[in-house]
Amino acid sequence: MKSEQSVRDIKGVGEKAEQCYHKMNIYTVADLLEHYPRAYDEWKPIQPIDGVEEGMTVAVEGTLRERPQMKSKGRLKILTVTLLDGSGALPVTWFNMPFLRNRLKMGVRYILRGKIERRGGQLQLQQPNIYTREEFYRQVGKLQPIYPLTSGLSNKAVTKALALALKEGEDLQEYLPADIRKRQKLLPYKKALQQIHFPVNREEMMAARRRLVFDELFLYSLALAYIKKAGRIESRYVVEEKEEAQRFQSGLPFVLTDAQKKAYREIMDDMKSGYAMNRLVQGDVGSGKTIVAVLALYQTVLNGAQGAFMAPTEVLATQHYHSLCEMLEPRGVRVGLLTGALTAKEKREAKERIALGMWDIVIGTHAIIQDNVVFSKLALVITDEQHRFGVKQRESLYQKGKEPHVLAMSATPIPRTLALILYGDMDLSVIGERPAERLPIKNCVVNTGYRPNAYQFMKNQIEQGHQVYIICPMVEEKEESELENVTIYSEELRQIFPFSVRIQALHGKMKPAEKEAVMQSFSQGDIDILVSTTVIEVGIDVPNATVMMIENAERFGLAQLHQLRGRVGRGASQSYCIFMVGEESKDSRERLDVLANSNDGFYIAREDLKMRGQGELFGLRQSGEQIFVLADIFEDADILQAAGEEAKSLTEDEIVLLYKKNRRLKKRIEYYLGQVTL
Ligand code: ADP
Ligand code: MG
Repeated sequence: MKSEQSVRDIKGVGEKAEQCYHKMNIYTVADLLEHYPRAYDEWKPIQPIDGVEEGMTVAVEGTLRERPQMKSKGRLKILTVTLLDGSGALPVTWFNMPFLRNRLKMGVRYILRGKIERRGGQLQLQQPNIYTREEFYRQVGKLQPIYPLTSGLSNKAVTKALALALKEGEDLQEYLPADIRKRQKLLPYKKALQQIHFPVNREEMMAARRRLVFDELFLYSLALAYIKKAGRIESRYVVEEKEEAQRFQSGLPFVLTDAQKKAYREIMDDMKSGYAMNRLVQGDVGSGKTIVAVLALYQTVLNGAQGAFMAPTEVLATQHYHSLCEMLEPRGVRVGLLTGALTAKEKREAKERIALGMWDIVIGTHAIIQDNVVFSKLALVITDEQHRFGVKQRESLYQKGKEPHVLAMSATPIPRTLALILYGDMDLSVIGERPAERLPIKNCVVNTGYRPNAYQFMKNQIEQGHQVYIICPMVEEKEESELENVTIYSEELRQIFPFSVRIQALHGKMKPAEKEAVMQSFSQGDIDILVSTTVIEVGIDVPNATVMMIENAERFGLAQLHQLRGRVGRGASQSYCIFMVGEESKDSRERLDVLANSNDGFYIAREDLKMRGQGELFGLRQSGEQIFVLADIFEDADILQAAGEEAKSLTEDEIVLLYKKNRRLKKRIEYYLGQVTL
């Protein structure tokens, strides 16, 4: 079996499973092999009953205290027993498995493995599997992969498909140069794949991960080297500084911070240099990146050329559209919006206007680079929230106009040394301060008992004319019942708050147009409380919002919470962030305290790194979108460094030679870069 073959060619994968795989962007055998476990289930030895704790997955062994009891609750059949092991007694329940009643016998020793949950104040083992001693001891000490799934596809099915793909894969040979592999002490490729999916122990898994992370970062660095070579070119567009832009800047309701001025200066120097700018502006949430982008765009337009401004979500694109219209249309700049949400007809018209130069600034999602839009005179391309765009999208930017200036903006707080490698193809500007008069956000971490006080607090803020965000976790299909669903949550809020308080839900399942309408009316102040999932995470700017409450804050990553919180504290008034803890644990307390004690993204990222990696189920990566599949830029900073150096130590000729000599490496890079041919 070859890597490019369809997943369908794997024995046991039928049409239905194939469709499920497609939903997860898995098309080929190679895609499947890179579908790494999200975590591993580690089979620990049998535990005494008196040592079990809530949330643990445990194996216990014992006998039944009495005959199994069966209850019916609606359509649900609940079977309960109590297991005794000499150290204590543990209630056990099974749902809808009535046949067990006659199978479970008194006086027989059973090994049960499952999750400990708390029901009505009491710990119990829920829905455990039953094992013979032989079955159990075969598994102890082993790591079972747990894969990201989609409904219709079981973990067992993915595991089986992967085992087959590994066994029958013919072209999984080594492609890294041997000296690099030796110097970096890396496992052979096939072995690493085998061990990341089916590790015998933790050490094997870590070694496999190291190899694959290295690959990812090495290929990334090579790809950057390639891009850099192709991207550094003279530019047709020399953008001179114009008087009107200076007047526009003086008319702003605030003065730029020194850091903003410096970044702006660097951008202008690039754009008039005669070479294509390729610059990254990095600045924590709320540091004021947008206005710097707007100034650069305005200068471009004053020079008679076009600018494009891309955001990762439609909601954010639309917000930028409205604020740019407000700022620049009175000055005669024609601003247009192009997103995937437009109808076919609207899209066609938009493209016409862009091609004819009737729009000076085009704002949109990456529909702008995808839908073969032709510009009449594109001189500047800006991407907001760059960390959300992968290297592929970055590549297609360079190919868009003739030789436009490229400006990327990112809020990911990474140290300069890492940024230099990650964005090795770009120059870097850092906006390292927030506007001075901005009051720091006041934070608190509370449990659900505090909710009534929180609501009272919000009521007061709303009476003073402010607005509120309440964030609920994304709804994962399986966990629906456990989670605060935004719709139900909003209904409940309506019972609690006075009639006059305007409450609106916002979630990912809404159509883009609906989402935009909601965001638009929130930013106009027509909504008092916005109940939302993390769809609002990226870049939304409503300075009048002063309170954010995050439900089940323990379920989010620290970096994500920091980005979320960045939605408040954007105006002149004092802002507040309430982290509501649903399931208390010492761990989550400590993590959230980091956030409560600091508003500094760099500090939070560092602390986050220190605390990670101690959990029982250890994940390969944090959830959330990021540009790497396996690599974590913080955790793998050393590998990133090494991979960057290995890639850099190759001369241009060697790289070309490597591409030529090493068909497999070349293929990998092409695969990585998408359509590009070297
Ligand atoms: P981010 O860097 O997170 O993208 P924004 O550019 O959205 O931040 O800016 C956040 C808010 O701060 C906006 O409302 C913007 O108008 C305001 N702002 C930007 N620069 C300054 C400044 N120098 N002084 C005061 N407010 C500013
Ligand atoms: Mg922003």
